[in-house]
Amino acid sequence: MIIIFFGAPGVGKGTQAALFAERMGFGHLSTGEALRNAIAAQTDIGKLAKQIVDEGKLVSDDIVTKIVEETLAQPKFQAGTILDGYPRTIGQATALADILHAKGQSVAVVVNITVDQETLVQRLLARGRKDDNEETIRARFAVYENETAPLLDFYAKTPNLIKTIDGEADVETVYSRVKIAVEGK
Ligand code: AMP
Repeated sequence: MIIIFFGAPGVGKGTQAALFAERMGFGHLSTGEALRNAIAAQTDIGKLAKQIVDEGKLVSDDIVTKIVEETLAQPKFQAGTILDGYPRTIGQATALADILHAKGQSVAVVVNITVDQETLVQRLLARGRKDDNEETIRARFAVYENETAPLLDFYAKTPNLIKTIDGEADVETVYSRVKIAVEGK
């Protein structure tokens, strides 16, 4: 089962994705975390990605899709796959569909978590990651609006694929909403 956790920066998709993967025994891929690890380890990808991530822009579709392809081949991901922060562009969504199609698979559900934008800014500023300063946050919201939000129209072409849930509650309450959304599939 392939599940996409979708939403603007700060909606809690990383927290929910990690929790869901752990409790279900699924593989969890956060492309943001994979890139932060690559940057810390100063790999070739890390060197290419550092400035882009610091500025809140998007790393190229080719780089992130390569990470996804390699990760999905790992045994842990056979039981189930949680994608967190990928796809973020139409190009990535198309690439993902191709990768899955080659394995006879497809996306089972897109869990779209929504939270009021002002709450999001406050959450991100409180989180204090390196790319959580005001300027980068603004850039990441603009990227989300322009490049990532259009994916909702892309996935809406498949009936009942998108499950939208309210992310404005405590972690366990949101988790139960996620679980209901996925179980409905
Ligand atoms: P995240 O941890 O999902 O908030 O991602 C942190 C940063 O990593 C983003 O602001 C981007 O610079 C980069 N990034 C993560 N996922 C992707 C992706 N799917 N495509 C391009 N860039 C990404």
